[in-house]
Amino acid sequence: MLTKILIANRGEIACRVIETARKMGVRTVAVYSDADADARHVEMADEAYRIGPPAVSESYLKGDTIIAAALESGAEAIHPGYGFLSENPDFVESVEAAGLRFIGPSAAAIRAMGLKDAAKILMEKAGVPVVPGYHGENQDAGFLAGEAEKIGYPVLIKARAGGGGKGMRKVDRPEDFYAALEGAQREGLASFGDSTCLIEKWISTPRHIEIQVFGDDFGNVVHLFERDCSLQRRHQKVIEEAPAPGMTDEMRAAMGDAAVRCAKAVSYSGAGTVEFIVDASDGLQPDRFWFMEMNTRLQVEHPVTEAMTGVDLVEWQLRVASGEALPLKQDSLTINGHAFEARIYAEDVSAGFLPATGKLEHLVFSEHARIDSGVREGDTITPWYDPMIAKITVHAEGRDVALARLDRAIGETHVAGTVTNLEFLSALCRNAGFAAGDVDTGLIGRELDRLVPDGAVPEDIWRVAAAIALGAPFDDLLAGWNLWRALVRDVRLETRGEERVLQVVVTGPETVDVTSEGETVTLGIRPEKDGRVVVETQGVRRKTSFVRIGNMVSLFEAGRSYHFDIKTHSGLDGDQHANPEIVVSPMPGSVKHLHVAVGDHVAVGDAVAVVEAMKMEHTLTALCDGTVGEIPVNVGDQVDSGAVLVLLEQGDG
Ligand code: ADP
Repeated sequence: MLTKILIANRGEIACRVIETARKMGVRTVAVYSDADADARHVEMADEAYRIGPPAVSESYLKGDTIIAAALESGAEAIHPGYGFLSENPDFVESVEAAGLRFIGPSAAAIRAMGLKDAAKILMEKAGVPVVPGYHGENQDAGFLAGEAEKIGYPVLIKARAGGGGKGMRKVDRPEDFYAALEGAQREGLASFGDSTCLIEKWISTPRHIEIQVFGDDFGNVVHLFERDCSLQRRHQKVIEEAPAPGMTDEMRAAMGDAAVRCAKAVSYSGAGTVEFIVDASDGLQPDRFWFMEMNTRLQVEHPVTEAMTGVDLVEWQLRVASGEALPLKQDSLTINGHAFEARIYAEDVSAGFLPATGKLEHLVFSEHARIDSGVREGDTITPWYDPMIAKITVHAEGRDVALARLDRAIGETHVAGTVTNLEFLSALCRNAGFAAGDVDTGLIGRELDRLVPDGAVPEDIWRVAAAIALGAPFDDLLAGWNLWRALVRDVRLETRGEERVLQVVVTGPETVDVTSEGETVTLGIRPEKDGRVVVETQGVRRKTSFVRIGNMVSLFEAGRSYHFDIKTHSGLDGDQHANPEIVVSPMPGSVKHLHVAVGDHVAVGDAVAVVEAMKMEHTLTALCDGTVGEIPVNVGDQVDSGAVLVLLEQGDG
């Protein structure tokens, strides 16, 4: 077994690899750019080497620097993670030339799968079904337009070197073909240095179903069943699941066989994924899936396969790279239950899913899910790298329960300091089509209007935020509502471009009256542990989590989050407030006398308390007839302006 490995990556995948390595007693070496000097993966590893400034071209893509670090550290092998150098055959050759093991397939296998056109030709030879289309050398625009006619519209133009959805254009009508071809060529050249394109038939009602494969150095290849990655936005995966909804044994066997043939055709060793496109216009049919491409690395969404099969794929990678044979044969692999994974990103969904940055001032993950994350509370999402915050993976016996768990785990993920796609994911979990397993790659696009949060802030959320924004007095209230001080407050809050002034009057232990937009509502607010409050309005109780950071208060409720800026909060004079049942101190001072006790009857104008300030005594009188309900202060207490001295109950008394 390997004894020490270097992980040529960062973020969640570096952390995930380190976790399994540690479990297996393999020592770990991290690499980091200046932007990642304090990153979680650096903290987790046994050793860490600086490899350059933040830009990936000067750090995580610097193969030579990384190989030098591996040699210096005495590591025997390099794990590439995904992205960066993971599918770069030149890097694999350099690693091997340096006498190190690359934890992944051979350079030849990566090269064979690197270009979509060559890969399709190879797959045709291996008897793997490929999407009908043209993937030859001739790049003459007129010729390609002719091929598109032959294939039949709509067609999809793909840059052969493309990836991540780049360099792809769907064309619906012949008259749009030339412009689309130019666009795909331009993008291919700009992003991958290669303008060569292929043309494919556009599959209607397409589903993306991929097969996890694994090979070893002895020619064994198994598959670990499928993952459905049809929930995509602009060809980017959003939520993945395994098994695929509606999958039949027959179709699974056909796809598994095709994937194994594909891997064997390139003598594949290590973890890989064969991606298929499936025509789901008439359910899943064993003759309606076609090879799209093979990803020659561990995939982002590998945890759903791990949850479903119980296999630790990184452990298998380390075993195979150590020269062991695959730990299990095909017949020993089984499907257990159902798993989902959602990708949490710092991104502004309402602004067209714009990647976001920011300091994660508050970060709480669900305790009911597997969390893969490279960041901790206090870390910053920088513009240098992928803005992923975490992956959430859940597992259950059946799909319905697993989906409900995903929704819950998303709701229990609380982030303040940057915008996230959490609400979007939560809306997706509740989408009727998705819940029914009726997925295809167009679902998100069609339903987008309903999935993007409308930004509306419920009235009660404004009110709870105002009560919590009171700050220090509220902390005292949380401590048991005994030391009431400033209890009549105007609170100015701003959220999502809207500013409001709300008046908060503390009317009793765990109750406030909040006036907003001319309407006063009584709220019960009972603190619980861990930054949660139970909010009661008209007999209905809800649990809301909150966090106050500086001048911000964030509330988390039912899978949504609300972030308010606290502009100001100011006290009011005691006789200015509207509630005659509350006798408050008009200024800071000390309680000199209490003329009443709980249960006493008082009439308007009766003296109830005396407050001394600046050596002057001020007698406070009742503003209504009533019975003394509570006296939250004692003689001798120091009180602030606005503090409640006596609470009266009007009515039959
Ligand atoms: P990339 O390498 O850029 O990720 P892929 O070839 O893997 O590109 O395709 C990405 C996505 O585009 C697929 O998951 C699928 O949703 C869609 N797609 C690809 N080929 C077709 C096709 N022929 N018809 C319809 N949709 C397709």
